[in-house]
Amino acid sequence: MEPLIELRGVNKRYGELHVLRDIDLTVGQGEVVVVIGPSGSGKSTLCRTINRLETVESGTITLAGHPLPAEGKELARLRTEVGMVFQSFNLFAHKTVLANVMLAPVKVRGKKKNEAMTRARELLGRVGLAEHAAKYPAQLSGGQQQRVAIARALAMDPRALLFDEPTSALDPEMISEVLEVMQQLARDGMTMVVVTHEMGFARSAANRVVFMADGQIVEDRTPEGFFTAPESARAKDFLSKIL
Ligand code: ADP
Ligand code: MG
Repeated sequence: MEPLIELRGVNKRYGELHVLRDIDLTVGQGEVVVVIGPSGSGKSTLCRTINRLETVESGTITLAGHPLPAEGKELARLRTEVGMVFQSFNLFAHKTVLANVMLAPVKVRGKKKNEAMTRARELLGRVGLAEHAAKYPAQLSGGQQQRVAIARALAMDPRALLFDEPTSALDPEMISEVLEVMQQLARDGMTMVVVTHEMGFARSAANRVVFMADGQIVEDRTPEGFFTAPESARAKDFLSKIL
């Protein structure tokens, strides 16, 4: 499998706090990696680091063989190749669903409006929201808004998607509709890094589970191996609390 995202020896500190410690992580093309771990272990920082929304102190991040530079145009371009979906959907409240999905391809990529609109409608269909294109975010449920956020990320034709606790802000009855969309993306071969506490999703969709604690990757295993026989005391303790 060709590596799409590669982190080598990545370190990051916030002042005294060493939040990412010697992170080595390879995500292959089409792979789904679920990242789990206690609160504060560095999962969100890891996501933001992959996209260079955070600077790093040392180490390299490579995207499809291209080392990410610290700044500049090339970074901006490479960054658009990795889409992000956050816990809070961050949709533009004063724009329709359709306009939200069209925006970045038109503004950032210079795509023609009618092309962007055709693609946006197609993506809204893919996440089951074709009939809601003309609505505003506030008229949708949380689960629907998160599906719009996924369509919006897909509109940039990213090589990979990062999800940071995409269902944590949702009412329980809306979680499955978002996970189903993610499952389908995984089946379609999208490369995904997913921070989530949804162990059912990890078991069924992940190729690998990465367990983080105190800024380190403690285990990097198959879901089967991790859930049935966690090796580290930290992972055993974590699993005993959530399962
Ligand atoms: P997780 O997503 O696993 O809960 P985070 O990556 O959000 O963990 O945070 C890792 C650690 O870094 C935590 O101790 C958190 O308080 C700290 N942290 C995160 N962001 C910042 C920041 N911008 N400034 C200072 N400390 C931060
Ligand atoms: Mg987090």
